[in-house]
Amino acid sequence: MAELKLSETRDLTRIERIGAHSHIRGLGLDDALEARKVSQGMVGQTSARKAAGVILEMIKEGKIAGRAVLLAGQPGTGKTAIAMGMAKSLGEETPFAMMAGSEIFSLDMSKTEALTQAFRKAIGVRIKEETEIIEGEVVEIQIDRPATSGAAAKTGKLTLKTTEMETVYDLGSKMIEGLSKEKVQSGDVIAIDKASGKITKLGRSFARSRDYDAMGPQTKFVQCPDGELQKRKEVVHCVTLHEIDVINSRTQGFLALFTGDTGEIRSEVREQIDSKVAEWREEGKAEIVPGVLFIDEVHMLDIECFSFLNRALENDMAPILVVATNRGITKIRGTNYKSPHGIPIDLLDRLLIISTQPYTEDEMRQILDIRCEEEDVGMSDEAKELLTKIGFETSLRYAIHLITAAALACQKRKGKLVEIVDVSRAYQLFVDIKRSTQFLIEYQEQFMF
Ligand code: ATP
Repeated sequence: MAELKLSETRDLTRIERIGAHSHIRGLGLDDALEARKVSQGMVGQTSARKAAGVILEMIKEGKIAGRAVLLAGQPGTGKTAIAMGMAKSLGEETPFAMMAGSEIFSLDMSKTEALTQAFRKAIGVRIKEETEIIEGEVVEIQIDRPATSGAAAKTGKLTLKTTEMETVYDLGSKMIEGLSKEKVQSGDVIAIDKASGKITKLGRSFARSRDYDAMGPQTKFVQCPDGELQKRKEVVHCVTLHEIDVINSRTQGFLALFTGDTGEIRSEVREQIDSKVAEWREEGKAEIVPGVLFIDEVHMLDIECFSFLNRALENDMAPILVVATNRGITKIRGTNYKSPHGIPIDLLDRLLIISTQPYTEDEMRQILDIRCEEEDVGMSDEAKELLTKIGFETSLRYAIHLITAAALACQKRKGKLVEIVDVSRAYQLFVDIKRSTQFLIEYQEQFMF
């Protein structure tokens, strides 16, 4: 494992299940961290959003290590939506991992392994590579190879003189492979990445000074020991520790990243990776980016998981842990003790608690409006009013589900706009929890007599 494999994993950091929350694009706060009434897909819940924004500031300033956030509130009051909003506000590069408390019991691995994987999915590693770029017009090109053939033929000396550098550059042996007299001719304008040996032919019309910046935002000038100015480009890769784990665990290979079928990862693999990453950090080649780990239904975890969380939060690379529950005082799983939210007191002590409140009818209407737009469903005002009433009587989530069902009913009758009839039709087709419970009670009575 001398060379950790990284290149395969880019762009995979953010495969998340986001359908229900696809309209959330941030926390919708202004510069003073006040919550705008409706912004970035977020409606109402202003004090919880503001509190979440303050926590984000603390995260950005690195002041929240070893602590965690609890979102407590009734079902459907936007706890998950706020966690998503926090992740979106942290930016694309910050990893966000999401799991439900109950998931750890159904996976094909131990509880602690599942939690370890979740933690490592939420820890990013930003790896920096600085590459020196020589730029200029080729004036002279000379390849001196030893007379031997085979592998030795690739070693040798390549001398390149460009107008920009005004020096003869010895590019070293590894460059020779990518560069030949056929590829680069005298007079060509080129840029050479000295680390990778990659040569970009810029063409003769290339306006060097200005267009060069288009090659990468991290390009910068550095003063070399001999006083010359050189251009350097910083290339940054972002991956999560979990991705590094998966692609380096011998039995799995990186395809496991797509199937999610990672199985248990051996602790020696993780130890090796951790020490490699620590080495990179010391050398200034890598930075740790603590992300957000969101655990929904946290009351479903048991006492062993809670002590794992307590310990994991002590780690200096720990992500920000955001947990959510809709339970009040309830039993801690795996014990006979009751505690607030079913969370042991020692963990509760570390938590910053944000509570969410039930929505007003108005707010619910606005959320439903946004969801209709998100799902590209045209709905009449009267139908929206009915849907809001239904949501208020049953639950917001149920009303959101009815949008698609009502749109299908509308499509079936070849209507253009979802009307009251479509919403009623969907309401009749799919029962909400209250009606379903009522049905069960009645059914049970029939059964008994
Ligand atoms: P539970 O306790 O059942 O897990 P929850 O509090 O996590 O519920 P969410 O899943 O966040 O509730 O909310 C239900 C739906 O309503 C989601 O689609 C969510 O995106 C949307 N939603 C909730 N609150 C808001 C809000 N303030 N603004 C916009 N959309 C919201």
